[in-house]
Amino acid sequence: PALSTRPCKPASPNRGGRIIQAMMGADPIRDWICSEGGASKITRISPVGGGCINTALRYDTDAQTFFVKTNRDVGPAMFEAEAAGLHAMFATETIRVPKPFKVGALPGRGSYIIMEYINMGTSRGGQAELGRQLAQMHKAGSTDKGFGFDMDNTIGSTPQPNPWMSDWVAFFQEQRLRYQLQLAEKQYRDYDIAEKGQRLVDKLPSLFQGVGEIKPCLLHGDLWSGNIAADEKGAPVILDPACYYGHSEAEFGMSWCAGFGSSFYNAYFDVIPKQPGFEQRRDLILVGEGITGMEPTGLTLCTILIVSVTSELAVEVG
Ligand code: ADP
Repeated sequence: PALSTRPCKPASPNRGGRIIQAMMGADPIRDWICSEGGASKITRISPVGGGCINTALRYDTDAQTFFVKTNRDVGPAMFEAEAAGLHAMFATETIRVPKPFKVGALPGRGSYIIMEYINMGTSRGGQAELGRQLAQMHKAGSTDKGFGFDMDNTIGSTPQPNPWMSDWVAFFQEQRLRYQLQLAEKQYRDYDIAEKGQRLVDKLPSLFQGVGEIKPCLLHGDLWSGNIAADEKGAPVILDPACYYGHSEAEFGMSWCAGFGSSFYNAYFDVIPKQPGFEQRRDLILVGEGITGMEPTGLTLCTILIVSVTSELAVEVG
């Protein structure tokens, strides 16, 4: 987009009317910030680093600061799903997430999302606070629609299917395990993975023996260290979700690169007690929960993880 820090409203109303008309649609980000966003002047636009997939910008204005991500390759569906996830988490009023404001298409091709800009602090925030607030979000974010989400989304750049299903084990078998295994198989034509994975899928119900009723909880869905921060007061902030309603344990699917310590888990399990057989299921979650989320470069590593985890579990569950 044309990055301009001119005042939103030109001085002369007649000329201004024509300019605004000419600009409508040319820079929809600026248009929104200068209308519903409440700004009369964009004072500075600067790049924000640290993302994996999209281009991130900070828009300083005389109203407030906005965080904007753009993607030149995909339409608005990806950001619509991100915004729906942010909305759902924001509504729980438990853990800080940026408030999403607007999603739309860029002229020609591509899409954007505008959200609240959060001033991040230098620390990663307290682990115990993160564990407690995350569990509170899981508890508060409930639904009677079952397991899934209102729309499919993406984890990294990998599609994540979220059709509503009433049974968690069936959801995890079909939409997470089998889907991820098929992706790995397609990419590498490694039929060994498919065979071991299928054995695991078949044995899955036995790993949930003794677990009582499983309630759908709102999950961030992609909780690795790059999506965990703290605001300037040190309060935990979680970003860039791949939300869906699932078994609370599935949130630990990205824990292999989230750096959760014992104070995190202790605080989490104080709010949502550990369920029988959790230790046995912990590795399984890694297969199901988006470990191919970093394609293409991460896929080799992820495939190795899938193979080793499925092999071990396939042996373990017979
Ligand atoms: P991507 O979708 O490309 O992975 P992220 O959503 O992870 O991008 O955002 C990129 C970086 O921008 C993050 O690592 C974080 O440091 C920063 N960031 C993300 N959201 C906000 C926000 N609302 N306010 C301020 N900084 C943010």
